[in-house]
Amino acid sequence: MPIRVLDPKTVSRIAAGEVVDRPASVVKELVENSLDAGASQISVEIRGGGVSLIRVVDNGVGIPPPEVQLAFARHATSKVDGLESLESIKSLGFRGEALPSIAAVAQVEMVTCAADQAAGTSLSLEDGVVTQKGSQGRSTGTTVTVRNLFRKLPARLKFLKSPATENSHIANVVSQYALAFPEVKFSLSVDGRTTLRTPGSGHLLDSVAQVYGLEAARNMLEIERSEWEGGIAASSPLVTGVVGAPTVNRSSRSYLSFFVNRRWINSRLLTWAVEEAYHGLLMEGRHPVVVINISPAPEEVDINIHPTKTEVKFRNERAVFTAVQKAVRQALIGLMPVPRIEEVAAAYQSPPAPLTLAAVPERSGSLFRVSPSPPLPAQTPAVSLPVLRILGQILSSYIVAEGPDGLYLIDQHAAHERILWERITAQRIQQKIEVQGLLEPVTFEVTPRQDEVLKSRYEKLAEFGFSIEPFGHRTYLVRAVPTLLHNQDWAAALRELLDSPPGGDRGDWEESTAISLACHSAVRAGQTLTDDEMRELVRQLEQTAVPNTCPHGRPTMLHLGSGQLRKEFGRE
Ligand code: ADP
Ligand code: MG
Repeated sequence: MPIRVLDPKTVSRIAAGEVVDRPASVVKELVENSLDAGASQISVEIRGGGVSLIRVVDNGVGIPPPEVQLAFARHATSKVDGLESLESIKSLGFRGEALPSIAAVAQVEMVTCAADQAAGTSLSLEDGVVTQKGSQGRSTGTTVTVRNLFRKLPARLKFLKSPATENSHIANVVSQYALAFPEVKFSLSVDGRTTLRTPGSGHLLDSVAQVYGLEAARNMLEIERSEWEGGIAASSPLVTGVVGAPTVNRSSRSYLSFFVNRRWINSRLLTWAVEEAYHGLLMEGRHPVVVINISPAPEEVDINIHPTKTEVKFRNERAVFTAVQKAVRQALIGLMPVPRIEEVAAAYQSPPAPLTLAAVPERSGSLFRVSPSPPLPAQTPAVSLPVLRILGQILSSYIVAEGPDGLYLIDQHAAHERILWERITAQRIQQKIEVQGLLEPVTFEVTPRQDEVLKSRYEKLAEFGFSIEPFGHRTYLVRAVPTLLHNQDWAAALRELLDSPPGGDRGDWEESTAISLACHSAVRAGQTLTDDEMRELVRQLEQTAVPNTCPHGRPTMLHLGSGQLRKEFGRE
């Protein structure tokens, strides 16, 4: 279809809005255009967090010379020709808004060549106005270069996070589309370094291996249509993709990728369906790695409800939920031949064996025997804890103790978190984090997104006791870890730190790092403790500044006073 300006009636039906709010949204729009143009190779190059330069090169169909300038007019599109086709959109773009919106806030140059043309057309625009037009040699395809984004919008520039954070958002966009289009060769270069390259083999697991690493890819299972229970496949949207074994769990939901007809979307409904499918297989607070594409008939889904097209509305939410949940569950059952949920859940209660190759030093008598903690900065105790007599442990998770005024139930994980968090905080203030060298350095693979965070966080991570150095493409050598984490799953803790935004989108990074380290080092629920270990834990809790809550603010204990006990038994 040639590019045409949409009629006002169609325009009024389009959920218009600001599509360009940060460099990653420019990359998203340009990559979507390249995919719509049928490209089999897309390379993305960025500099300075995407503000100095974004360049997307594709080998798609290109734009014929008379239409090049029209592509930059508002609501000019070749993908929709009126209200009817708005109902059944198959392309990623359809509003004809991206190019004019980008050109309005940056310097843009397009060089494009359609298949039957002898030479390409070049067009430059500055702040939305054409400054140069000519012809230029180019093979079939399109190159769009965007420079000095938001140069004339200081308010918007100020709103951006650090280049590292913007890079990580961009890496995420490219990674997601690489997962959605395994048959397309993607490459991403950040400040001159290639951080992602997919083979374009058409096999999703090849893309997963490039984005999440070989280890994750080895533990992913393809969703098989044929295994579906009777009838569902016929009446529900097609669900395809791969799901991770419960062992490749992560601490954030950002490893759940959803696509509707290969459009990358956010969806609470689909997140919920997947989490339901994993129910009982993951520890609380852990999330799976999945890549799922569903293909409802275009009229079964409305993609025209959000300016950035990242949210969709399904006509039959129930059918979608059930189809996804069943498909994922089925794949997981294939992974574990005789799943008995309770058993599996119990097995995952204990942390997986650490990845470290280093010899694990023999365990000391007590889990909690550590060097005495340095004094904390003066702080008024919220509640001081009386001396307690340990009575025992219930559900392998709670310590039962008696105090001068009744009964105490202590959550062993939350209590230990509180103790460790205060210790880490004190050690950090004194710059005395205890570090444990690994006998042999361990290689650690990261995703493109984590790569960006890690690069900007070496020093901070060193402050917390991680000694890390680059070791080739998206691989690092870990030489030392915080002593507290040494016998724990420090790799999981490190991944979690790299998944939280470096610019501090969620507040103070140091603070959340201390919390996360404490959480990963603390004794788990479900772990049986000896009497000595319980006594030591409670003794250390008594010495903390705020014994009654964990660093997340949840209670560490329940107290049933003797007065209340008497009342409960009707003695008052
Ligand atoms: P939309 O994608 O919603 O149609 P855009 O503003 O992103 O709107 O693009 C306008 C038009 O320019 C598209 O409809 C398409 O015809 C053309 N176009 C943009 N980018 C490319 C590209 N990389 N290859 C071929 N055509 C393109
Ligand atoms: Mg577009």
